[in-house]
Amino acid sequence: MDHKMSRSPWVIHYDGSSCNGCDIEVLASLTPLFDAERFGVVNTGNPKHADIFLVTGSVNAQNLPVVRQIYNQMLEPKCVVACGICACSGGVFRDAYNVIGGVDRAIPVDVYAPGCAIRPETVIDAIVEACGILDQKEAVMRAGGDPLTVGGAATWDGGVELVEDGFVAAAKAGGAPAGAPAASAGMPAAPAAAKEAE
Ligand code: SF4
Repeated sequence: MDHKMSRSPWVIHYDGSSCNGCDIEVLASLTPLFDAERFGVVNTGNPKHADIFLVTGSVNAQNLPVVRQIYNQMLEPKCVVACGICACSGGVFRDAYNVIGGVDRAIPVDVYAPGCAIRPETVIDAIVEACGILDQKEAVMRAGGDPLTVGGAATWDGGVELVEDGFVAAAKAGGAPAGAPAASAGMPAAPAAAKEAE
């Protein structure tokens, strides 16, 4: 039987720290007017049932662990779509004291779907693109390979680590990630550094 995940992708939606503009558009894409369901899309609230993770809003110290937890609860193959420019890069809030950056500071992103707010048509385009990546990952897994060699995970720099009390420590790999503000850019110093200064 010719089985493909992309024929009936289940999506889960999480609002990181959006202004709700992008959330309304993501949900609008699922309504009969825009009708993402014609591609077999089903909205679920259970990460274990979801194939595609739709995230709106930027990442901060409060929601970063939540985004990671949802992602880690999803089974492979899975795809992540950053919905709206805040989710892609932090958007207009990028330099805010509490914003770490886009969703790729927390987890690998497979599809970047910009817009402020994102349009329902863009959400559907992104889901269709994610479906193609899902098929690639599934094919790799059926051949005994690693799905993390496909899509955003293949080139992901590891994002940022949070240390005690939710402060940003450093990138897991490479230098300072593009979306992570340095301490001098408004983020408080890590607790260890703060204690040394006392
Ligand atoms: S991209 Fe625009 S509409 Fe979407 S969460 Fe950010 S500010 Fe709001």
